[in-house]
Amino acid sequence: MDTTGQLLRIAIQSKGRLYEDTTSLFKESGIKINRSERALLVRSNNFPVEVLYLRDDDIPETVASGVADLGVVGLNEVLEREEDVDTLLHLGVSKCHLAIAVPKHADYSGPQWLENKRIATSYPNILNRYLSRHNVKAQVHVITGSVEITPLIGLGDAIFDIVSSGSTLVTNNLKEVENVVDSDAVIIANRSLSPEKKETVKELLFRFQAAIDAQKKKYVMMNAPKDKIKAILDILPECAKSPTIIPLADDQWCSIHTVLEEKQFWDIVSDLKKEGAQGILVMNIEKMVL
Ligand code: ATP
Ligand code: MG
Repeated sequence: MDTTGQLLRIAIQSKGRLYEDTTSLFKESGIKINRSERALLVRSNNFPVEVLYLRDDDIPETVASGVADLGVVGLNEVLEREEDVDTLLHLGVSKCHLAIAVPKHADYSGPQWLENKRIATSYPNILNRYLSRHNVKAQVHVITGSVEITPLIGLGDAIFDIVSSGSTLVTNNLKEVENVVDSDAVIIANRSLSPEKKETVKELLFRFQAAIDAQKKKYVMMNAPKDKIKAILDILPECAKSPTIIPLADDQWCSIHTVLEEKQFWDIVSDLKKEGAQGILVMNIEKMVL
């Protein structure tokens, strides 16, 4: 089959956090990408897609200009670069947020505190938009790395940077005072894709969505006394009310199978045990088509 017109070029990070997450998403979606070391453009042999490996900073522009059709990149980069692209899907990985932080003992009282202060950041566009929304005039200093040490060495009064667990802030005697925007990895697309390419995008998103849905869910199996089936079904959340019930060799017992979100499982596991459920198994689901 000639798939030339449908071939999508998708830009992903060549190494780093997003590289790992994106590579496993391709794998879980059944798309084979055999990258020999440091190759920059690799075509899949079982799906009409070729992967272009770049620094994440360059991905929004590459997609906006049409050099790549799609890209996987942090929403933080999309918002900073202000390129003309469509955001198609949130992947829910590489989660972080962009926050303003100030020295631990500063008497921060709100955005007005930032007036005339020096703020170090690698995200000047997002920061400037935030400051102008709050009518604050500050001196924005752009630096590309180690933003969190600038107050420590007297280079600034505050920082605006990526935060995930917050431990880097604590280590550098800073405290978060404003969460400006939440970010996760997103798929972005060029705005003028051909109808053939749009078809491939549809199929790709369908596969990615199935892999993402499966990541959140667990397949749960347990053995239970037959006279406890009703009590156990009452404990299961609404979305799992139609579980599979399988007889066991011992005719007083059965096996109950269902699909749950991992968090829901932890919420109900002790109640399940109280009702006599035993041998509870929790398994990963590879794909889930809803
Ligand atoms: P490159 O060399 O490609 O420019 P980088 O150093 O800019 O890489 P990484 O540190 O790999 O980028 O981060 C890539 C993206 O992952 C960030 O833009 C952000 O969306 C997300 N990210 C960064 N730090 C964290 C974190 N601590 N926790 C979760 N996600 C993060
Ligand atoms: Mg980068």
